[in-house]
Amino acid sequence: MRGNFQRDRDRIIHSTAFRRLEYKTQVFVNHEGDLFRTRLTHSIEVAQIARGICRVLQLNEDLAEAIALAHDLGHTPFGHAGQDALNTCMRSHGGFEHNLQSLRIVDRLEERYAGFDGLNLCFETREGIVKHCSLENARELGDVGERFLARRQPSLEAQICNLADEIAYNNHDVDDGLRSGLITLDQLREVGLVSRHLAAVEAEYPDLCGRRLIHETVRRMINTLVCDLVDTTKGNIAEQSPEDIDAVRGCKPLVEFSPALANENLELKKFLRINLYRHYQVLRMTSKAQRIINDLFSAFVDDPRLLPPQYQNDEAQYRSVADYIAGMTDRYAVKEHRRLFSVGEI
Ligand code: MG
Repeated sequence: MRGNFQRDRDRIIHSTAFRRLEYKTQVFVNHEGDLFRTRLTHSIEVAQIARGICRVLQLNEDLAEAIALAHDLGHTPFGHAGQDALNTCMRSHGGFEHNLQSLRIVDRLEERYAGFDGLNLCFETREGIVKHCSLENARELGDVGERFLARRQPSLEAQICNLADEIAYNNHDVDDGLRSGLITLDQLREVGLVSRHLAAVEAEYPDLCGRRLIHETVRRMINTLVCDLVDTTKGNIAEQSPEDIDAVRGCKPLVEFSPALANENLELKKFLRINLYRHYQVLRMTSKAQRIINDLFSAFVDDPRLLPPQYQNDEAQYRSVADYIAGMTDRYAVKEHRRLFSVGEI
């Protein structure tokens, strides 16, 4: 009844790693508020944007949805802070990269089928999950690593998911950033993409304020980015007219924003980096997160007997510790830290 990519998507939705996304940080840790994005809602937003783009370009929506829903499966607890900490811990043991961890989950770590490890996904889905990786890692990846070594592109659906991810997080971080009060609308007026749409909304609805003003502005920003991406990509495809997937792989990236929008997008990213991701209140959480990951890693590496038995692994103990920590949700990591380090906690 289902095509291969539909089946991939369904396998991803039923995986354990997918359910964990609900309790993993995007920017704000889950306990900071109920309305902030989590990795789960972020992944659903990416899938929505990617599917919309694929439909209008007559590409494969099921493939894009599968890639989008799986693209963040490998994230550690506490977002990028967690990944950086785990990567530092693993420096002499092959490092840690969330893209590769996503692939490792769908290829090996999920235990759901009698006949094989992982989810046995199609090449196209797995290729889309590995958005980027170092050449050194690419050599270890077999079929999905080859394109990095040959400097070729992935499918159009994978390219779309990549930019749908950016569209989703830039815009929802504006929304979440404003909701948290860490950034203000007045600050955002310095950013071209925001100020242009904000001014248009204010001109059209002079009495609008509060959440509705923000939401109306953000939805227009998303719409502008999506429409620009569709038009630019349509133009690229018409110009290069690739005959098949092999030709797509050999072209320059065909999915892109126009130069003007790419610049505005970059400006917004820069604003968020400086004003939100490096806000002292975010950095406090980041530094706490790093301490938790470091402590857990050292405790388990120093004495692997503290690990649940299925993670005790004489041949690859470091990697197994990394798998265990990466699989934790934010609150599970906090709890586990308390269980290991807090006197009076069992
Ligand atoms: Mg993402």
